[in-house]
Amino acid sequence: MKIGNTDINPTKIVCIGRNYIEHAKEFDTPIPSEPVFFVKTINSLIANGKSIIYPRILYENEEFNRVDHEVELALILSKKCKKISAEDAFDYILGYSIFLDITARKMQIYDRNKNLPWYRSKNFDTFSVIGPQIVPLKEIEDPHNLNIELQINGNVKQSSNTKYMIFKIPRLMEYISSFLTLEKDDIIATGTPSGVGPIQPGDIIDASIEKIGKIRNEVILED
Ligand code: MG
Repeated sequence: MKIGNTDINPTKIVCIGRNYIEHAKEFDTPIPSEPVFFVKTINSLIANGKSIIYPRILYENEEFNRVDHEVELALILSKKCKKISAEDAFDYILGYSIFLDITARKMQIYDRNKNLPWYRSKNFDTFSVIGPQIVPLKEIEDPHNLNIELQINGNVKQSSNTKYMIFKIPRLMEYISSFLTLEKDDIIATGTPSGVGPIQPGDIIDASIEKIGKIRNEVILED
């Protein structure tokens, strides 16, 4: 797929959960002592400007009819890596982008309460957005000091700064790559700040990260 002018071909999206203290608190989940990660599949991935499709299977079911927005700083990898050290982490990053981790929240909580994996709540088609471009690594001096914001229909819902990440980028790269191989073009989403909440068909989502830009996506109900 194209992100801005760059063609990438990721094999997976590795997402960090609970990486901002205020977000962990809003769902009464413990502050992690080491990074928590899960994987989103490529079928979920769309570009800036494309529509996020709200599945009818969620919309028409009282038990599952909450879908949430999460805005996150994304890293795109420049090369394959495994078991890298924190000091070397930035040698493997091509650049930065904005990511939306759309989540079927009621389904996630339902599955978690049943001790089931919450894989399905994260991997509906169109539930991952990336864009508007990949800002090269060297153009952002400090990725841990960027304002990050998300608006729904012009109302600010999430507003924070990447300095509040619990685990910083080098630690995340070291930790994830200690378990699995990261491939060139793979995406790492570094977690969302507090303020997550529901989206509805017809909503316009505007997300921005300082020095990276803005993305805009409309939510539509599945045909
Ligand atoms: Mg997330």
